[in-house]
Amino acid sequence: MAANSHRDSGRKGLVFNIQKFSLHDGAGIRTLVFLKGCPLACRWCSNPEGQSFSPELAYNIEKCIGPSECDRCIGVCGRNAVIRDENGRIRIERELCDHCGECADVCPSRALEMVGRCMTAGEVVKAVEEDGGFYVRSGGGLTLSGGEPLSQAEFACDILKTAKRRGLNTAVETSGICAWEAIEAIGPHVDHMFFDIKCLDPLKHKQATGLSNEVILENYQRLRTHFPLMTITVRTPVIPGFNDSVGEIESIKQFIKRSGLPANYELLPYHRFGESKYHKLGLTYKMHGIGSPGDAKMKRLNKAATS
Ligand code: SF4
Ligand code: SF4
Repeated sequence: MAANSHRDSGRKGLVFNIQKFSLHDGAGIRTLVFLKGCPLACRWCSNPEGQSFSPELAYNIEKCIGPSECDRCIGVCGRNAVIRDENGRIRIERELCDHCGECADVCPSRALEMVGRCMTAGEVVKAVEEDGGFYVRSGGGLTLSGGEPLSQAEFACDILKTAKRRGLNTAVETSGICAWEAIEAIGPHVDHMFFDIKCLDPLKHKQATGLSNEVILENYQRLRTHFPLMTITVRTPVIPGFNDSVGEIESIKQFIKRSGLPANYELLPYHRFGESKYHKLGLTYKMHGIGSPGDAKMKRLNKAATS
């Protein structure tokens, strides 16, 4: 492969994580690339750091040495956004913070970190290819995720094109909430699309995610018409009290069937792994006290999804 096949438009996008050795989001061993920014704000989101379109400051109190030993962050912040609170602990006054990142630069324990960094598509694919040998042997590759990766449509397309030029298998995880043109542009460079359908009722969808699902359902149907040969997996996150009934799952399955072409259909049980991220970003976790759907319920729902 020619060295200049990493070359790209030079356009930069905002990436918040590159996670290696995933086994669940496409064929073989994969590297997941998470792009920042999403128009939705799902109550159950497990990647809240992917919602904002800007870099953000995260504070992990468990890593903090504490201001009695180290107060570098207080000293360096020109906006007085880092303070010692009434218990002698560090607190970030979020409304004063402009996300300049200077406190994170001086924090010796990485208790403070900026989430989101600007990269070019070439830089992203180069980072992914560090594990190239594993992909070749396992049939894996790059999976673009988020946030909603198609919110940064041109950047996402640059990454996928560059990855394909380098011979990588490509997958995309999308909520489907994007301009149709974004899906149309990436289609020829995608081997496998994971497409979320959370429920069919537009009002219910809006109440739980902030936006109606009409664009999502329309995009799914157009995707099937325009790219009939693409491998597609529809995914539904199973959320207690929202869509965890056989009726909901069967209605989505019927919608997939009505599109006229087969697709894999997969259910993902809600989990609380993302809860600590909300605290680090100074956000409120809206699903507090709600547990994952149990095995018996998932068995019933999986049967409805696949029968
Ligand atoms: S990111 Fe900048 S403004 Fe925000 S707390 Fe740190 S130093 Fe202060
Ligand atoms: S610089 Fe880091 S370790 Fe030191 S007090 Fe601030 S957050 Fe804690």
